[in-house]
Amino acid sequence: DVSEPLDTDFYRVFDDIPTADREVWQRARGFVEEIWPTVNEAWENADYPLERVRRMGELGLLNDGVSGDGLRTLSPLGAGLVTMEVSRGDGSLGTIIAIQGGLALRTIALHGSPEQKAKWLVPVERAEVLAAFALTEPLHGSDSVALETTAVPDADGWVINGTKKWIGHGLGGAVTIVWARVPSADKHGGSVRGFLVPQDTPGYSAEVLTGKVALRSVHQTRITLENVRVPADAVLPGAQSFNDTSTVLYATRLGVAWSALGHAIACYEAALNYATQRVQFGRPLAQSQLVQERLTKMLSDVTSMQLHCMHLAKLDERGELDPVMASMAKYTCTRKARSVAAIARDMMGANGVLLENHVIRHLVDMEAVHTYEGTESIQALLIGRRITGESAFK
Ligand code: FAD
Repeated sequence: DVSEPLDTDFYRVFDDIPTADREVWQRARGFVEEIWPTVNEAWENADYPLERVRRMGELGLLNDGVSGDGLRTLSPLGAGLVTMEVSRGDGSLGTIIAIQGGLALRTIALHGSPEQKAKWLVPVERAEVLAAFALTEPLHGSDSVALETTAVPDADGWVINGTKKWIGHGLGGAVTIVWARVPSADKHGGSVRGFLVPQDTPGYSAEVLTGKVALRSVHQTRITLENVRVPADAVLPGAQSFNDTSTVLYATRLGVAWSALGHAIACYEAALNYATQRVQFGRPLAQSQLVQERLTKMLSDVTSMQLHCMHLAKLDERGELDPVMASMAKYTCTRKARSVAAIARDMMGANGVLLENHVIRHLVDMEAVHTYEGTESIQALLIGRRITGESAFK
């Protein structure tokens, strides 16, 4: 029951959550309780949880705070609490919120034409269809500004060629937002535009990346686009340059911080529980001074992450969130979550590497969460540019 203070809420930062946000948080928690018994099995088997994603759509858990005609209303705080809660249960599902709601839905809501919005917003929010956001390429991750996929106009529309990598929902979905370079005279040899590409378009093919040991229940894909023809109205009219692509990424970064918080809470709770149960040298681990210090370190990190997320959600609601603040939240929270997960894993000894103890999955999932939507170093460069006024990207 989310009306009770969390054990982990040391500063009681969750005391004053508005009713609407508390309700959606409660819905997310109820959903996680439903899925919890089989999360490890799905992760181990790398099963994509389609039914669960559809259920999240029905419950309004995929919206990520995006607004638009026909969409549910979810505040930045409500969206953050949902991402935290779902990631606390299953990081793969937390990532699916980021793909479906954070990236795909947000892009169409921010940059789509009225017709594109009418066609896609509601079905994507409800998970009646799956949607992908394809920016990263095999040769361009952090420097995706230098992407090489091209879209060339012809008599009927556009012809797209290129390769994308790491794309969630790139296979088995309905539509992929493909970011491609169109001919023009900017310094990269053309400006970047977004295109809505139905996944059944001839020339579009995708394969799931195998051998991935993080976030195993969500599939990332490598997409090949070979002379993919789309009509003229497939282009997103609101995205005219790479800066418009970046507005989507900035908006989703705070969500990654919330997700990291969910992972960290799960690890802290598992470690605390273990420390009270496990007896060594004739007493529970929890009576050992070193273990108490480690629990303090973990709770201190969790508390700090809560303060970051709650404060920035409030700024976001007031329309005062600067993108570089979200960079700081992502930078801080994914670092801290990795540290909490590593301590929790170690505190459980050998049992810490068994899935059944609900830490190792979070630890390896956090490795991917730490990387996506801008690595730690890239966030540091964005923050550093603001601190010094000097760009290190040149
Ligand atoms: P690289 O850019 O090759 O970086 C390698 C290392 O070099 C990093 O440590 C980085 O910080 C460092 N580095 C790079 N440049 C600098 C610099 N100038 N100074 C100092 N250090 C530097 N992309 C999508 O488009 N759509 C998706 O749906 C999507 N989903 C993803 C899901 C998962 C699970 C993962 C892991 C990735 C996903 N990505 C997606 C891709 C993700 O955004 C990229 O992995 C990320 O931007 C980093 O790019 P890279 O992996 O190519 O690393």
